[in-house]
Amino acid sequence: MKEVRVRFAPSPTGPLHIGGVRTALYNYLFAKQNDGKFLLRIEDTDQLRYVEGAEEYIKKSLNWLGLIPDEGPDTGGNMDPHRQSDRKDIYIKYADKLVESGHAYYAFDTPEELDKMREEGGESSAKYDHSTRENMKNSLSLSTEKVEQMIAEGIPYVVRIKIPQNEVITFNDLVRGEVSFSSNELDDKVILKTDGMPTYHLANIVDDYLMKISHVIRGEEWLSSTAHHVLLYRFMGWEDSMPQFTHLPLILKPVGKGKLSKRDGANFGFPVFPLEWYDKSEDELFLGFKEFGFLPEATLNFLALLGWNPGTEQEIFSMDNLIEAFSIEKIVKSGARFNIEKAKWFNQQYILIMTDDKLAQALKPFVETAGYNVESALLVKLAVIMKPRLELLTDFIEKAKFFFDDNLTYDEKTIRKKWKEDNITNVNSLVELLKNTEDFSKENLNTIMHDFIQNNNLSFGNIFPLVRVALTGTLSGPDLFETMEILGKNTVLSRFDVAFRYFDSI
Ligand code: GLU
Repeated sequence: MKEVRVRFAPSPTGPLHIGGVRTALYNYLFAKQNDGKFLLRIEDTDQLRYVEGAEEYIKKSLNWLGLIPDEGPDTGGNMDPHRQSDRKDIYIKYADKLVESGHAYYAFDTPEELDKMREEGGESSAKYDHSTRENMKNSLSLSTEKVEQMIAEGIPYVVRIKIPQNEVITFNDLVRGEVSFSSNELDDKVILKTDGMPTYHLANIVDDYLMKISHVIRGEEWLSSTAHHVLLYRFMGWEDSMPQFTHLPLILKPVGKGKLSKRDGANFGFPVFPLEWYDKSEDELFLGFKEFGFLPEATLNFLALLGWNPGTEQEIFSMDNLIEAFSIEKIVKSGARFNIEKAKWFNQQYILIMTDDKLAQALKPFVETAGYNVESALLVKLAVIMKPRLELLTDFIEKAKFFFDDNLTYDEKTIRKKWKEDNITNVNSLVELLKNTEDFSKENLNTIMHDFIQNNNLSFGNIFPLVRVALTGTLSGPDLFETMEILGKNTVLSRFDVAFRYFDSI
């Protein structure tokens, strides 16, 4: 079998959308599964849509996810360069070849002339194709002398592909099966622009050919372009090396119709980008999966199943499992609905199986970003007890901050309900007892506090909530005795002090 070589070919027109990440992932899995190569190619031929920083962003995102290209702009190698703007000369040669063989032609029409042609098409707006090309200004309608003269005069021109009439273009898609387009639906697309830059269609097929791409795995939005691509392969005489095509289903909005968009993320409060992205034109910062507190492994597992069905009940797949189990045949045809709750569930599962040290390491940057400096040993202890309580790494700050931040906000409802005569006296006696306790291990605290309640015939419900609120601010949280052990005697006593003064004041 031909060596498997696949590519992820994003255009640096903005941040990588989560759908793009899924495309990269499926390409990566397919390459690894087949001992093939995963390439990164930057398709930056559309200078008007080029966005500063987008290429760096794409690379950083792939890096965070561990989808490291075998070949790409930063790896070098004999397929270099991997950025299309650095390959400009290559494409011109191929565009010329198509003109020479009669499959493409020069077109000199001005934007106004093109608008006029479209308007004259009436409601359906005319296409530049077999029905209109004869009336336009191009090397098919003008004499050779005239064309040569115009070129010599420096009149700008583009190169267009000449789409044949009345043909059915058929190709096999590994997800959709046989797909056909009538050539009459296709327009004579521009393949080389006035500045000598190729358009996506030309650059894409030339590079897939030169880079020996065996399989093209990309989003569904490119399905209709494939008909043009198939013709281009034929016209170039490259039919035998044409890659196998796979078009991935759309990722749909969480509710309603249509594709998941950047706005959905902002509206519903979930990420649609892998990493944070500052949108200059809108002066808006979009947080990514990373900043929301997702682990890269969980993000990938979630995305793997968004459009691919393993055919079993299994949901948790390590990267190795995915490489083994992935198959193009099991990619679904219909759109896959984005579900953030499911993403969180995956994250929780991955947090649960992390080692304590790893979790502490993963939490560290979030703790620092929140402005805290927590020593490593404490962070590991907190990782152990907080692990079952986290869906996102960011939950840690909210749920565990009382361990390293003395500024507590107290649950006033509990105080109003329980900070009463008898309870106050009893809690104060308990504090006295704790003052005289040297052993602040959770086991010992458990014993003495339970004994205290029993020996004085008190109810747990009157004492423990007050203790908990005084020490942590809220009623929920990890085991009280463990919490006290971690806080340590000094902190526990000083927190009682501060809290009781506050309790008295309300
Ligand atoms: N540059 C295209 C994109 O941005 C790539 C499409 C393809 O993979 O052929 O998605």
